Amino acid sequence: MNSVSPAVEVQPLVFSNPSFKDHEQVVFCHDKESGLKAIIGVHSTVLGPALGGTRMWAYNNEAEALRDVLRLSRGMTFKASISGLNLGGGKAVIIGDSRTQKTEAMMRAFGRMVDRLGGNYITAEDVGIGTKDMEYVKAETNHVTGIPIEMGGSGDPSPVTAYGTYMGIKASAKYKWGNDNLSGKKVLVQGIGNVGITLVKHLTEAGMEVFVQDIHQDRIAEAVNMYGAKDYTGEFAEADVDIYAPCALGATVNDESIEKFKCSIIAGAANNQLKDEVNHGIALQKRGILYAPDFLINAGGLINVYSEIAKYDRAEAIRRTEGIYDTTLEIFRHAETKDITTHQAALEIAQARVDAAK
Ligand code: NAD
Repeated sequence: MNSVSPAVEVQPLVFSNPSFKDHEQVVFCHDKESGLKAIIGVHSTVLGPALGGTRMWAYNNEAEALRDVLRLSRGMTFKASISGLNLGGGKAVIIGDSRTQKTEAMMRAFGRMVDRLGGNYITAEDVGIGTKDMEYVKAETNHVTGIPIEMGGSGDPSPVTAYGTYMGIKASAKYKWGNDNLSGKKVLVQGIGNVGITLVKHLTEAGMEVFVQDIHQDRIAEAVNMYGAKDYTGEFAEADVDIYAPCALGATVNDESIEKFKCSIIAGAANNQLKDEVNHGIALQKRGILYAPDFLINAGGLINVYSEIAKYDRAEAIRRTEGIYDTTLEIFRHAETKDITTHQAALEIAQARVDAAK
C-alpha cells in the first residue's frame, strides 16, 4: 500500500515562481557584518543596462521580498521602454525596516554587491531609500544614479516622478471628462512619502480637494500642515473621491478594493498597482474606472536619473517628463480602439520596442 506523504508547504523558488517572467538574473546578497540581506533582479538588458531603484522594506518573509523584486524589475523593463530610454529593467530589495535597521555599512555592502554585477544593474532610490543612501553606495560603485546634485548627480528623482504622475493624472482627467482642469475635484493620495508629498503639492495647486493617508502620522501631518490636505482615516477603497492616487506600495487594486471603489480614475505613482495585471485591469474596465498604467505615469524619476547616463540636463528631463501627458492619452486611445485594457495597451507598446531591439 502506498503511504501518503504529509503535506509540505513549499515556498515558490525562483524559476517556478509565478512572478518569474524570463528574468535574466536574480542575485541573492548577504553581508553578515552589516546585516545586509538583499535581492537584485535583472529582468532584461535588451535595451541597455538594467536600471531601477532599491527598495528597503520589512517584508514578512523572503518569498514576499522575492515576489516584489521579480514584479518590480519586470515593470522597469516596460517603464524604460515606453519612455523611449535605452535602459533595461532591474530592481533591488533590501529586507529590513529602513527607519530602524538601515546603516551606512549596510548601504556600502550593498554598493559592493552592485559593483560585482559590472554595470549590468544600475541602482537608484525607491521606497525607504534616499539620496544619502546613494551617496554611500557611490563610495563603492559607479553603477549608481540619483546621487546628490552637489556630487554631480541628478539628485532625488521623487519630485520628477511626482510631476510626471501629475501629468498622467491631468491626461486621465482630459480623457475621462473632456477637460484636464482638476479644480474642485477630490483626490485621495495614499502614501505621503518622497513622491506623495510633492504630488499633494501639485494637486493642491491645481485646486483639488486633497485627502491623504499614510501609516505614519508624521507624514500625514506634513501634508496637512504644508498644503492643507485632509487626513482620511477610512478604508481607502471606499473614499468618496473622483481620483484615487496610490503612492505607497503595490497591489492595492485587487478583488476586494475593486468592488468598493467610488472613484472614476486610478492614477498614481506606486509600482505594480494591479495585483493581477490581466484580471484586475479587466475588472476596472468593466466598472468604467479609467486606469492610468503605473509604469507609464511614474516614469519621471527614471527619466531624471537617466540624465546622469545620457548626459542631458534637468530642463530636458522635465521636458521629457511632460511628454507623459501625450503618451498617456495615446495609450488610452490605443486601448479603446483595440478594446483592450489600458494596462494591456501600454504593455503591448512597451513590449514591441523590446522585441524590435532583439
Ligand atoms: P517612500 O518610502 O518615500 O514613501 C512611501 C510612503 O508610503 C511612506 O510614507 C509609507 O509610510 C507609506 N505607506 C506604506 N504602506 C502604506 C499603506 N499601506 N497605506 C498608506 N501609506 C503607506 O517611497 P516613494 O519614493 O515616495 O515611492 C512611493 C511609490 O512610488 C512606491 O511604490 C515606489 O516604488 C513608486 N515610485 C517611486 C519613484 C521615485 O522616484 N521615488 C519612482 C517610480 C515609482
